[in-house]
Amino acid sequence: MRHLHVWSLAALVGVTGIGLALNAAQEPDLRPSGKGIGTLDHPPMPDQASTPKGQAGPPSKNTSNGINYRGGPVMTNPIKMYYIWYGNWSNNTATDILPFLANNIGGTPYFNINSTYYNGSGTKVSTNVTLAGNGLTSPLATMVSNYPFGNSLSDAQIQQVVLNAISSGVFGGATTPDPNGIYFVLTSQDVTASSGFCTSYCGWHTYTTVNNTAIKYSFVGDATRCLSACAAQSTSPNGNPGADAMASVIAHELEEAATDPQLNAWYDNRGYENADKCAWTFGTTYTTSSGVANMKLGVAPNQKDFLIQRNWVNASGGYCSLTY
Ligand SMILES: [Zn+2]
Repeated sequence: MRHLHVWSLAALVGVTGIGLALNAAQEPDLRPSGKGIGTLDHPPMPDQASTPKGQAGPPSKNTSNGINYRGGPVMTNPIKMYYIWYGNWSNNTATDILPFLANNIGGTPYFNINSTYYNGSGTKVSTNVTLAGNGLTSPLATMVSNYPFGNSLSDAQIQQVVLNAISSGVFGGATTPDPNGIYFVLTSQDVTASSGFCTSYCGWHTYTTVNNTAIKYSFVGDATRCLSACAAQSTSPNGNPGADAMASVIAHELEEAATDPQLNAWYDNRGYENADKCAWTFGTTYTTSSGVANMKLGVAPNQKDFLIQRNWVNASGGYCSLTY
């Protein structure tokens, strides 16, 4: 657990450049791979197995803001989030808190940071985000609440959960993947991910290609399982520390999936994607009746407080921020 905080400190040191002894001109660009940086990264990709972190990635185009474009796609159409609730989520306020996040993060000054990222044609990442499918209110709830893969999921099983959900048609009847979708597998407190949840990461995002469609998906586990590793606080603005911690991780994976959906668009020379560069930093916070927060989402009087990690602005030399 402590290990994770050490890593997040290392990420901070990297951002500020303290102790950066490498000559940038001689340092090869590293691809994002593995789960080791910060607490939030990706599972190893089959097609990256031969190019582990530490080997040269494609040449970068722009180094002026501390993060470089590698030529791959970004998400330029309105972004559709899909939640797949794996395990037992009954009587858990996460099922209110996390849909609220998904339905209110789009269009905010916070998410607008992602508009500083663009593709090879100069088209910006969309800042329109909605929860297009919430497995909790569909037959999918029945499908995954009976633990079809047990309580310890491999990376392959997490991918299979996503593929099964899509092919079953539970998301609005469509049985083909949404090319503008990001599918989140949210696992309950009694479930782990065997490749390193709580020890190497708190969540990750990646993709797989089926019938020429890149299916973007993410794993985020209930941080109640390991608050000391995956939560910034043990009390929280919405009175559910595990879910409030998941909100920060979901935001992180969402913005990385938007700007680097196929792990070949935007990352820095260490393989850090935009949110990785600001992981576990929160900027200015304020105190609520039950914890610390740094942003209010929603429209008054229907608002909630959240504590969400900052993101990297790809402008003005680059910096971590809560707004753009
Ligand atoms: Zn990340």
